[in-house]
Amino acid sequence: MDAGLYIHIPFCLKKCPYCDFYSITDTSLHPVFTDALVSEMRMTRGENLTFDTLYMGGGTPSVLDAKTIGKIIDTARESYEILPHAEITLEVNPGTVSLNKFEGYRCAGVNRINIGVQSFDPVNLHFLGRIHSGRDARAAITWAKKAGFKNMGLDLICGIPNQTKKSWLTDLKVAVEFEPQHLSCYILSFEPGTPLYRDRQEGRLKPLTDPLVCELFETTLEFLSDHGYVQYEISNFARASTGSSGLNGAECNRSRHNMKYWKFVPYVGLGPSAHSFLKPKRYWNCANVKKYIQDLEAEKLPIAGEERLSVEQVMMEAIYLGLRQTEGILIDDFDKKFGVNFKTLFEEVIADLEARGLAENSQNRCALTSKGMLYLDNVASMFI
Ligand code: SF4
Repeated sequence: MDAGLYIHIPFCLKKCPYCDFYSITDTSLHPVFTDALVSEMRMTRGENLTFDTLYMGGGTPSVLDAKTIGKIIDTARESYEILPHAEITLEVNPGTVSLNKFEGYRCAGVNRINIGVQSFDPVNLHFLGRIHSGRDARAAITWAKKAGFKNMGLDLICGIPNQTKKSWLTDLKVAVEFEPQHLSCYILSFEPGTPLYRDRQEGRLKPLTDPLVCELFETTLEFLSDHGYVQYEISNFARASTGSSGLNGAECNRSRHNMKYWKFVPYVGLGPSAHSFLKPKRYWNCANVKKYIQDLEAEKLPIAGEERLSVEQVMMEAIYLGLRQTEGILIDDFDKKFGVNFKTLFEEVIADLEARGLAENSQNRCALTSKGMLYLDNVASMFI
């Protein structure tokens, strides 16, 4: 597999209380940040890899205008060997776009749009502290289509306090009516250090009960399967039919870029807080826009740390990533890669998981059931 290039755009118009991604709201830094990012691309030059994905995430990349996004893509193409058919994704916040902006992004070279809808419900959007309304989300999807984007993903969040099965189903129904090629349905998590986490710790909000979250997850699997979406990772679903996209079914409708993370393929991350993985080394940039800019102005790479993964760490990570995917751990590949016998090594764990209905073990693969997926972290820790 070719490598993936990730670019972190560290700006948001407002911080959402559940989010722990690095970003700031000082928009005056956009131009000087873009210059620094251009310098970083020119200094790194891609480590002799070829790339078939470029993913601009954040933060909110759509706070940048089309001209700036075009400059970033052009510089990436000059500095890295990006294949002509590369998937070029831009994450979009519905509160920051217009038809005109989408048209500009398309001309700039973006060919895949991922829209952070999260919910169409005003109560949920208010709870999540989003800057957009349900109407903004609908408009953004419509504009993206009108601008000619044939490869579109929508992000939704379930497990929001006070959410019911009925209201979650309404969000899913509205989303599938737009026939997006891809859907990500994340369960709301309470990340340490976020305002939402503090609210829960201090009793200001009551999270949904585990059984209700499980019910919402099961509802998602059933509903999306009935509506032609194939689950390929815990939270990710690809549209099976070609629809209007002209793309060839569920395989093509997956997020090619995110597959790099789950398949252990090398990726290079640029921008503040971005992580890179070049086997067996992982390294990451400083999570501070001002320091990032200062370092690059001084012609220094803004790397904040690195680690070399041991064979055991790589093996554990392969298990964790394999279990996230519906195809599971491919046992022959695993055995060849690590020179072990997976089934012998983990015989007791596998038997225990199967007995509890958390995993299915066929001749060639070990995959979690939908119940097992809900307890991924606990299940994965059993292999340590
Ligand atoms: S807009 Fe996205 S990246 Fe920015 S704070 Fe909200 S969830 Fe996080």
